[in-house]
Amino acid sequence: MANQDKDNLTAVLYKVNDLRLEQRPIPEPKDDQVLLKMGCVGICGSDIHYLVHGRINKFIVESPMICGHEASGVVVKLGKNVTKLKIGDRVAIEPGVPCRKCSFCKEGRYNLCEDIFFCATPPDDGNLSRYYAHAADFCYKLPDHVSLEEGALLEPLSVGVHACRRAGVCLGSTVLITGAGPIGLVSLISAKAMGASKVVITDLLQHRLDQAKKLGADFTIQVGKGETEDELVNQIHSLMGEAPEKTIDCSGAEATIRLAILATKSGGVVVLVGMGSPEVKVPLVNACAREVDLRGVFRYCNDYPIALALVASGKADVKQLITHNFKLEETIKAFEVARTGEGNPIKVMIHCN
Ligand code: NAD
Ligand code: ZN
Repeated sequence: MANQDKDNLTAVLYKVNDLRLEQRPIPEPKDDQVLLKMGCVGICGSDIHYLVHGRINKFIVESPMICGHEASGVVVKLGKNVTKLKIGDRVAIEPGVPCRKCSFCKEGRYNLCEDIFFCATPPDDGNLSRYYAHAADFCYKLPDHVSLEEGALLEPLSVGVHACRRAGVCLGSTVLITGAGPIGLVSLISAKAMGASKVVITDLLQHRLDQAKKLGADFTIQVGKGETEDELVNQIHSLMGEAPEKTIDCSGAEATIRLAILATKSGGVVVLVGMGSPEVKVPLVNACAREVDLRGVFRYCNDYPIALALVASGKADVKQLITHNFKLEETIKAFEVARTGEGNPIKVMIHCN
């Protein structure tokens, strides 16, 4: 194929508030890669953060970066060593490809690899484009009945699956989720799919809680009405009839991390998915004295196959998260909707071809 003749419209973030659509050459897949005709790419909070602030912690946009990492596509060309995929396969793309050599990779905790390539985390380019090449073994073939939209949604869903696995959610678990943004909602979907018996979810915004209710939350609590911490803890305990065994913080706010510790049952687990201010004041001694374990969550690791199985079996209805759809040509508008929150978006999805 005469690649240079082909359209590879690509969304490139040059610097803060400078997102452009431009033509880029279609990449040639390396020996272990496949070339993908991109399907869908969801906009994540981090894409918006780079657009607005140009950085997340130590990751700084210093040169133009291609956006997008919640993605799916169709295989159009195989690198010479690829045997497990074929042309025409529809796949979900796991955006992080680790070094495979360091101690973390060898121990099977590849999400902690320091040399991981991760789409749209500076300086690594993402895949919001018509064509993109990716490691074949980080592409997961979708069954015919799983759509490319759902394939892209495996990325946030994998965060929810990983959070629930880190928390040890299982059949009968009682779970508190703080924050009902996309990550809180995928954690809710995962917890229910893994057999949680009762899930209570909090947020400041009622429309997000309404969505949580549709996705299977047993109880919702709108916070931010001047209630005290103690009142909230009591409200959670009385709604559930007991203290939650597991809490998943999906907001990162100091108030929710504090609540997560205080509300969790003695001997229970708090997992922290939300990432807000790097230093927060929390009642640590309360956690210690009640043997409440605090665990971090970073992206996902060996969770894509589980997320795919949940979607393919109908246990995880992630499609409901999509509130807005745009074509690749409309990327600037799509980012504007995600940035301003106009029309109460949950997941904004871009269709690349
Ligand atoms: P989001 O901003 O859309 O959602 C956060 C939600 O928390 C919002 O709905 C907000 O109203 C709510 N909230 C704020 N203060 C609250 C309070 N006091 N009580 C209850 N709810 C409150 O973001 P998101 O995309 O859903 O991501 C959630 C968090 O997870 C972010 O901090 C993000 O950086 C982080 N994240 C972490 C990982 C990871 O690997 N650990 C992966 C993805 C996202
Ligand atoms: Zn590694």
